[in-house]
Amino acid sequence: MKKVLITGGAGFLGSTLSRRLVNEGCQVYCLDNLSTGFYKNIIDLLPHPNFEFILHDVTDPIHIEVDEIYNLACPASPEKYQADPIKTMRTSVIGAMNLLELATKTKAKILQASTSEVYGDPKISPQPEGYFGNVNINGIRSCYDEGKRAAETLFTDYHRQYGTRIKIMRIFNTYGPAMDMNDGRVVSNFIVQALKNEPITIYGEGSQTRSFCYVDDNINGMLKLMKSPEEITFPINIGNPVEFNMLELANLILNLTGSKSKLVYKNLPQDDPLQRKPNISLARQVLSWEPRIGLADGLLKTIAYFQKEIDQSLVAVKV
Ligand code: NAD
Ligand code: UDP
Repeated sequence: MKKVLITGGAGFLGSTLSRRLVNEGCQVYCLDNLSTGFYKNIIDLLPHPNFEFILHDVTDPIHIEVDEIYNLACPASPEKYQADPIKTMRTSVIGAMNLLELATKTKAKILQASTSEVYGDPKISPQPEGYFGNVNINGIRSCYDEGKRAAETLFTDYHRQYGTRIKIMRIFNTYGPAMDMNDGRVVSNFIVQALKNEPITIYGEGSQTRSFCYVDDNINGMLKLMKSPEEITFPINIGNPVEFNMLELANLILNLTGSKSKLVYKNLPQDDPLQRKPNISLARQVLSWEPRIGLADGLLKTIAYFQKEIDQSLVAVKV
């Protein structure tokens, strides 16, 4: 039986990956410090004999014998990673080093959840993997962007210096069930606001773009990358190349929910990237991967999830 360690396993992507790998018959060690992840995301998995939860922080070393490591530990929402920027940098850099040491010692394959944020506020669009990016070194997003860039450097240097078996996945905005409804990201904010008929908060004029990938497409890409031949050690973009601006996203969510919410405009946060759209030619060519789920279909599934979350929180308040 394949043994797999998933760091950040109680978070949005990590819990979805944990469930998928348990269902595929793997022994899953789900490691998390529960800073932005929750027991509720993995509660159904806890009794499963092939699933073990490890309460641990990746900034502390760990020894465990596994075949594969998915390093997903790191807050992903700007609001959350900016709340403790030094911890974010420590998680990205020291966490990556600890897990690379483990992978090197045990000869496990290790996948890094990197990000489109390595491109910063890009000057070219769509962004191919060969683009070096436009990142502010000292801004409020830098703890995350530079932390993830340094982690990619560490992964590549461990591979060059020690032959560590690495995979680097550059993830573009991903959404779906198991996102935290309070984590401040745009999809969760807009859906929860729409379902509660509260104002939809548009930052700036809403003309900035993002390209949204449904979680199942992301996890398919992640599994394909982990299974790819050993020589695939270079970064690969995984995202949905269909680009929307934030006003279009808000209007689509208003239509799908039938909400009466009005739009309100707030200040655009510092260094908020104006556009983001992946070039996925490499993923198509090397992994035979491309996303299959369009935004409206993915949003409908996500809206159903958040509706349940809201209903449950109302019941909890009554009790
Ligand atoms: P998330 O915040 O839901 O999950 C992150 C998980 O990591 C949480 O469970 C959190 O408790 C855990 N964690 C954080 N710091 C830790 C530490 N020091 N030690 C142990 N556990 C720690 O975010 P997500 O959307 O599931 O993102 C997962 C990974 O994918 C992150 O590394 C993120 O940077 C990357 N990523 C996600 C997206 C996206 O759109 N979802 C985009 C690009 C990159
Ligand atoms: N955004 C917004 N309203 C919100 C939350 C976010 O307009 O309530 C915007 C944000 O300014 C950014 C985009 O939506 O331009 C995506 O933000 P998110 O935090 O989801 O992820 P990012 O891609 O910035 O990391």
